[in-house]
Amino acid sequence: MTRTDSPPASDVSIRADHLSKIYGEFVALHDVTFSVRRGTVCAFLGPNGAGKSTTMKILTGYLAPSSGSASLAGYNPSDSEQRLLLAQRLGYLPENGPLYADMTPRELLTFVGQIRGVSAIGAAIERVTSQCAIGQVMAKPIGKLSKGYRQRVGMAQALLHDPEVLILDEPTSGLDPLQIREVRALIRELGREKTILLSTHILQEVEAVADEVVVVREGRVVFTGTVGALRGDKTLEERFYELMEAGGGPGKEAA
Ligand code: ADP
Ligand code: MG
Repeated sequence: MTRTDSPPASDVSIRADHLSKIYGEFVALHDVTFSVRRGTVCAFLGPNGAGKSTTMKILTGYLAPSSGSASLAGYNPSDSEQRLLLAQRLGYLPENGPLYADMTPRELLTFVGQIRGVSAIGAAIERVTSQCAIGQVMAKPIGKLSKGYRQRVGMAQALLHDPEVLILDEPTSGLDPLQIREVRALIRELGREKTILLSTHILQEVEAVADEVVVVREGRVVFTGTVGALRGDKTLEERFYELMEAGGGPGKEAA
């Protein structure tokens, strides 16, 4: 089948379909299935080691699943041709921010803009420099920046081509409280137009930015639904700890 540049119209923007991932003998993901509707901000919530980064690497095409499939903006990220088309519509903040420690943010953004075929690179760099408040560090090597600035440079490269889908792996990790507030406000603003999946282990982050939430524990999805449905008549904290303590198997919340 040949594919044009426009993906099929669909309400679902991100789909993980029965994904599993085995590292050596360790099963990191078991049958992970969820979807995110277009225009939704969805939190991917779970403790360290739950499989959030692994899932995001599969969704963005950096890692192949052991079984199952994924779809983003209508494209299959495991297919090398489709992945190139997907790259124009996807912004990805990897878990440890941008690589290329010897480049300055300006060099990185120029390079990334060229790779992604951004037409007015100068204007795009100006826009993300202001959105992510990195103007002061544009000429310093990325490897010399604080964790907070590196993280924001990572956000800036993810936003450079104004993609319709954002996958953000712990976007507030390493930021101070004021920076956290700014990045959450930016995510909410971006979420008015884009589909966003952001991973976090912080409950307040879910309440601050997300409409929907997918909860993972030990490589399994244990809840999907709205933040309100997760909370129910309890606090989010109480519900989260219930989900973390409940065993897998029958009776878990997600089918
Ligand atoms: P999270 O992002 O939720 O903290 P990860 O997806 O990074 O979780 O990791 C899920 C599990 O898979 C962890 O137990 C982690 O140690 C393991 N893991 C991740 N990457 C690898 C790898 N390359 N080789 C072996 N185990 C890995
Ligand atoms: Mg992670």
